[in-house]
Amino acid sequence: MQKRIAILGAGESGTGAAILALKKGFDVFVSDMGTIKEKYRNILLKNNIQFEEKIHTKELILNAEEIIKSPGIPDKAEIVVEAKKLGIPVISEIEFAGRYTNAKKICITGSNGKTTTTELTYFIMKNAGFNVGLAGNIGRSFAEQVANENFDFFVLELSSFQLDGMAEFKAEFAILLNITPDHLDRYNYNFQNYIDSKFRITNNLTENDTFIYCADDEIIIKEIEKRIIKAKKYPFSTKETLEIGAFLKENIIEIKTEKNIFEMGAEDLSLDGIHNIHNSMAAGITAKLNEIRDQELKKSLSSFEGVEHRLEKYIKVRGVRFINDSKATNVNSVWYALQSVEDKIVLILGGVDKGNDYGIIKDLVRQKVKAIVALGSDNTKIMEAFFGITELYDTKSMNDAVKKAFSLADEGDVVMLSPACASFDLFENYEDRGKKFKEAVREL
Ligand code: ADP
Repeated sequence: MQKRIAILGAGESGTGAAILALKKGFDVFVSDMGTIKEKYRNILLKNNIQFEEKIHTKELILNAEEIIKSPGIPDKAEIVVEAKKLGIPVISEIEFAGRYTNAKKICITGSNGKTTTTELTYFIMKNAGFNVGLAGNIGRSFAEQVANENFDFFVLELSSFQLDGMAEFKAEFAILLNITPDHLDRYNYNFQNYIDSKFRITNNLTENDTFIYCADDEIIIKEIEKRIIKAKKYPFSTKETLEIGAFLKENIIEIKTEKNIFEMGAEDLSLDGIHNIHNSMAAGITAKLNEIRDQELKKSLSSFEGVEHRLEKYIKVRGVRFINDSKATNVNSVWYALQSVEDKIVLILGGVDKGNDYGIIKDLVRQKVKAIVALGSDNTKIMEAFFGITELYDTKSMNDAVKKAFSLADEGDVVMLSPACASFDLFENYEDRGKKFKEAVREL
């Protein structure tokens, strides 16, 4: 008899898992509690995959031998709780697809910088001629690409939600960028649960695998001391010199592996800011361990254009530079964003706050920020947090925020959208917020 697999969620991840499961001969059933987007419904129909929407029918799900859960569905969802009670394994699409590929997997996680580092690593590998795919939390799903492509390498961006559904999955290169409190609502407000989730990236690593991590992150260092990680370790740091891994010497980035010492001026990186030195170091170590030539690596690190909505340098209007950092949805990201700009800043901040502690950016705001233009349906917390520290303005629409910010900026200043908050009070998502920001700038 065919083994039955039920898939919860029919987005990019669930639909991809369904295609792969079908190809591997399973009896596949897809169930989505919401409305399935037309694109995915058409894929399911075209492939004759059974599905339902706006409902989870228990009889059709709980008779499966295994359940693949999309990362957006919380563990607390009733159907997931029931499945677990019955002892049905609930896994992620990444765990499932990992069983069917021999490609080497470069896996990237962290609280911030995942997408940037994933795209950068992919860019370097691709430029060097590797047969490499890009997947995870980004673009086309991993499962769909495992079904339809034949890559030698995958660069995978992994969120903690994806890591949670992993058991036997193993990376060949595991990269951990940083850990700061985020998404605690999904971890019973227990930071250690979230740390454990991020450290799942090291699960199943052997002596032949590689673990690349930020040695400037105290939480990571403390956690490593508690654990036995068999993989070869390559730390990176902007603060101390290391025996192996990547570090800064004066302003030169050095990447030291057993075989090679790579050097490059930090100012030659195309991306600005200490956080991007970290991201470039992580990608650079991976590149050197895969024997990409120094010249080639330098060329890629100095020409990568960055990712939209992440400290994206937009246009200049009458001498004022505009930066779109709409993806900065927590205070930590804003700290790095402020830190990366040399000029005076008018900062557009606000939205839906996930329990922000603005204390960490107060000093930088004092030093660099001429004014804060708060943009959200309720700006009270921002007004209170920065009262007496800088000039404050309250706005409720992107157009007003951009106009106000522009009126406050002088030639040579920067207007930066780096909100520290989620966007769904006034926008569909952070992409929509970033696009509206750029539209408003064009209209000035
Ligand atoms: P993620 O995919 O983890 O959300 P992104 O690459 O999309 O990360 O970047 C999100 C925001 O985080 C960016 O706007 C940037 O300001 C900030 N950021 C990027 N890299 C780092 C890093 N290594 N450490 C801290 N903050 C970072």
